[in-house]
Amino acid sequence: MKVVYTKNELKQEIQKVKKSEKTIGFVPTMGYLHQGHLSLVEIAKKETDYVVVSIFVNPKQFNSQEDLEKYPRDLQRDLELLKKENIDLVFAPSETEIYSEEPKLMMDIPELTNKLCGKFRPNHFQGVLLIVNKLFHLVKPDKAYFGKKDYQQYLIIKRMVEDLNMDISIVGCPLVREENGLAMSSRNVRLSDKEKEDALLIYRSLQIAKQEFLKGEKNSEVLREIIKDIIETGKNNKVEYVEIVDPETLESQKVAKSKNMIAVAVYTGNVRLIDNIEL
Ligand code: AMP
Repeated sequence: MKVVYTKNELKQEIQKVKKSEKTIGFVPTMGYLHQGHLSLVEIAKKETDYVVVSIFVNPKQFNSQEDLEKYPRDLQRDLELLKKENIDLVFAPSETEIYSEEPKLMMDIPELTNKLCGKFRPNHFQGVLLIVNKLFHLVKPDKAYFGKKDYQQYLIIKRMVEDLNMDISIVGCPLVREENGLAMSSRNVRLSDKEKEDALLIYRSLQIAKQEFLKGEKNSEVLREIIKDIIETGKNNKVEYVEIVDPETLESQKVAKSKNMIAVAVYTGNVRLIDNIEL
């Protein structure tokens, strides 16, 4: 496994791979890797010949300075985990390497970015679009892998690639949970034991709402209230949003239908967590 830190080193490696006609699979991450990230790597390894993982905490997608400062980082640990996965290349650039100049380009897909998390995190998805686009130009992947834990992000990236005729297939990968049901996230290490317990209510509430839906409750407002009430029995929990949406357009649905998605964002203490479930 080779590790590079600069765009030039990365370009040289990618040029070599392109000459060899191997297909490139790419997994962009912000590091502090867990089994959720590694599941993407494993799918990429099965589907492509040469796997690149990037590790970069992208300041442009944080809308809270505190969240950026507290975002967990441990490059050595990440590299050890990736070595075991036997991947080919890690790109771990510094902030100045990526943003040597302040970018002037503004990317947006308002119909998708102004919903769910986008309502509460101004400029977050614009920052994601910019970094993913930059990384795609550097890595030139054939396939790129995104987790459906960040479902809205996955949809936005898929749309960007379609709108720009980029020759990259975007692969959506299943959400990976802890055994207790908590959606894996790098931010989970910031939870205290008590907060972790409260965070378990998030997935539990989604499962209960799904059961109610399957038993016949189709009123979104009722299902949303069920979820909010369960989550907020945890005294560290504050629901930011609960929405039942069409999985293609992210439009809110008054009447819940099969294949709709319930998406939630919750503050457990100071940590913002997201989760979703398909009906
Ligand atoms: P992040 O490091 O949080 O930016 O995540 C990098 C990639 O890993 C994104 O495509 C995420 O959707 C994906 N990912 C993070 N957590 C999970 C999870 N629990 N299950 C599946 N994919 C995940």
